[in-house]
Amino acid sequence: MQVTQAYRFALDPAPAQERALRSHAGAARFAWNWGLAKCIERYGAEKRWYSGAELHKLWNAEKKTDPAFVWWGENSKCAYQEAFRDLDRALRDFVKSGKDGRKGRRPGFPRFKKRGRCRDSFRFGSGVMRCEGTTVTLPRLGTMRTHESTRKLARRLANGTARILSATVSRTAQRWHVSFTVEVERGIPERHTRPGSAIGIDLGVKTLLMGADHNGNVIEIPGPRPLRAALHRLRRASRAHSRKKPGSANRRKSAARLARIHARVAGIRADALHKATTDLARRYETVAAEDLNVAGMTRNRRLARAISDQGFGQARRMLGYKTAWTGGQLIVADRFYPSSKTCSACGTVKAKLALSERTYSCGSCGLVMDRDVNAARNLLGLAASGAESVNACGGTVRPGLAGHVPVNQEPGTPHGGKTGTAARQQAAAGQEFTHAH
Ligand SMILES: [Zn+2]
Repeated sequence: MQVTQAYRFALDPAPAQERALRSHAGAARFAWNWGLAKCIERYGAEKRWYSGAELHKLWNAEKKTDPAFVWWGENSKCAYQEAFRDLDRALRDFVKSGKDGRKGRRPGFPRFKKRGRCRDSFRFGSGVMRCEGTTVTLPRLGTMRTHESTRKLARRLANGTARILSATVSRTAQRWHVSFTVEVERGIPERHTRPGSAIGIDLGVKTLLMGADHNGNVIEIPGPRPLRAALHRLRRASRAHSRKKPGSANRRKSAARLARIHARVAGIRADALHKATTDLARRYETVAAEDLNVAGMTRNRRLARAISDQGFGQARRMLGYKTAWTGGQLIVADRFYPSSKTCSACGTVKAKLALSERTYSCGSCGLVMDRDVNAARNLLGLAASGAESVNACGGTVRPGLAGHVPVNQEPGTPHGGKTGTAARQQAAAGQEFTHAH
């Protein structure tokens, strides 16, 4: 089966390369702004804007005649072209979002990008893209060192089971990353190696993940220790940041520091989730999880912290494609299924259960159990009772859908090729990445 997968590496560019990276990011930003201005201008006159291809043509004509654009040749033409494509997609998404009436946050009209106020990023859609050992090679930028080894991808490229479709280069805090979107040929087994095995999981607010499996085992995966430490540092840094005077040099410095810690937290969290979800997909044929209304929940600001910290949407997405790769399946309970409020022993449903109540105690049968374990047991029960009844809202994530994992680093760009729910959750979860654990 062919799946689209992302491989992301931190870069260690030489000083000249770092300048080239900044220049390319600047070119992409310029192209976006230039294209957006053109589109707005045309819309004012003709009530329509340019497509990505039209913008590219227009740009090719103007860049040679307008002396203000003499620097264009310093960057790969991809940087401009792909920015026009992004803009095209953002405009179309904006139009579409007004029509289909779906819930969640609507993508707004594309905005102009300001240096330092937007994400530095650009993409290569063609040209020489390679990796070997601890280096990657990109068009115009040449061969750059990477932080970690690229061997997993390099091996696939060498034996012909992978093909690089594009490379997105972006900067988070002070670090540059490259993320390759790769078409990978994966051997998917007919059946999982442990047929019949199942686990219900509660993606926790307190722990990373709480599960109950078919043998009655309780599996608890706590947040990794470095994550907790980093979160602690994050809280302190953000308090310190809020004390700094707006507009001051100190404030700018503390903002940079804050961004660095944020990036670190996201990295550690994603890594822990990758390990946990890979392990689950290997050990269980069926994984059942609940479908939290992430878009609705992130409106609650304090809870939003907890949810985004644990990378809820991220975990769901990982489980979707990883279970597909091992010949298993992910079952997603309907979001109105009361997994937390239902007693996993007798089935009584409580009318209310505050999030602060960490223990479930049943008034009917006297069951007393950790709240998350109780929820996980209910989800396991659903998995056993058959997915179809659970998935009235089309929640089952099956290989064909879930195995397809586009990568996306820019906020506001669309996520293609999946069901509406999955796409929205992904959007809510913000940027993320996969690498092959
Ligand atoms: Zn009970």
